Amino acid sequence: MDEVKKSFYDRIAEKENLRYIDAHAHLARKLNMKKLEQELEAPGLKQVWLLGMDKSEDGYLADNEKILQISKEFPIFVPFAYLDFNQGPDQIDRFRDQGFLGIKAIRPPKPYDALEYMDLYQRAADLDMPILFHVGSVATVNRTRMLRNKSYYGHSTMLPRMLMAIQACVPKAKLIQGHMTWGYNEELLMALCCNSATKVASSGIEDIPWWYENFSRCDSKGTPIYKKVMLATDVTYGEDCPEEYRNAGEHIYEKALFVYFLMRFQAYYYPWQGKHDDVLYGNAAEYFPDRLLK
Ligand SMILES: [Zn+2]
Repeated sequence: MDEVKKSFYDRIAEKENLRYIDAHAHLARKLNMKKLEQELEAPGLKQVWLLGMDKSEDGYLADNEKILQISKEFPIFVPFAYLDFNQGPDQIDRFRDQGFLGIKAIRPPKPYDALEYMDLYQRAADLDMPILFHVGSVATVNRTRMLRNKSYYGHSTMLPRMLMAIQACVPKAKLIQGHMTWGYNEELLMALCCNSATKVASSGIEDIPWWYENFSRCDSKGTPIYKKVMLATDVTYGEDCPEEYRNAGEHIYEKALFVYFLMRFQAYYYPWQGKHDDVLYGNAAEYFPDRLLK
C-alpha cells in the first residue's frame, strides 16, 4: 500500500473502530522475530488462532511445540494443537495440560466421521476445546510420504458433510470448518444450517456470491448464517521472506477492510448490511473471550 492509500484506510479503520480476529493461521518454522512483531501491529487485530502442523512433515509450518512456545510469549496467539489421528484421546488431555485451547484436524487416514474418531472429538468437547477441520483440497504428495505419515493426502477423507455425523454423535463439540472450498460449499451450507454448533473460518477461496445467497438463511436454531462465518487468512506469521513480500499483518488488515466495505456498502437491503463486526470479530470472539487484546 502506498502512503496515500494507507492513510485513507487507516482513517477508515480508526473511525469505524474496526476490530478483527484471524481465525486460521500458521507460524513459520524458521521465524523472523522482527517481522513477526511488525505483523502483529496490524491496527485492530485482536486475536490470531495459530494451528500446529505435523512435526514429521518436510514443510515450513511450525509444529505444536513451537506454536505453544510462541503463544506464551505473545498472548495475541491462541494455540491449536495438531491432532494425531493414529493416537487416542489421551493426547487431548495432554494438549489441554500443556496450554492448548483448540485442536486442528487435517489428513486423517480414514474419513473424519469414522466411528473410531468419535472418542477424540468427545474428549475435545468434554474439555471445551473447539476443533478446526481442514476440508477440501490439499497438496498431494507421493506414496512414500503418505505411508510414512500414515495419513491421507487427497480430498476424500476431509469433506464438509462429515461434520454432520460428528455433530450428531457429539452434539456439544464445537466444530469449525477451515476454509471455504470450491466444489464443497453446498455441503458447507448443509453443515452450517443443520448443526447449531458448527461455524466456518472463511480462509482460502472466499465465494462472495455464496455469501450473498446464503448469509440471510438461518440454522436449525434460527441463527443467521452470517453469525457463523469468521474472518481468516490461513497465512504464515513470522515467515522469513524478502522484505517486499506481503506480510501476514497486512494480509489480515486488507481482508478485514474488504469485508467491512462489502458488508457496509454492498449489502443494502440484505439483513446483514452493516453487520461486519460479527464476521470480523464477534463470531470468533465467543470462543476465547479471555484471550482478546484490549
Ligand atoms: Zn491452514
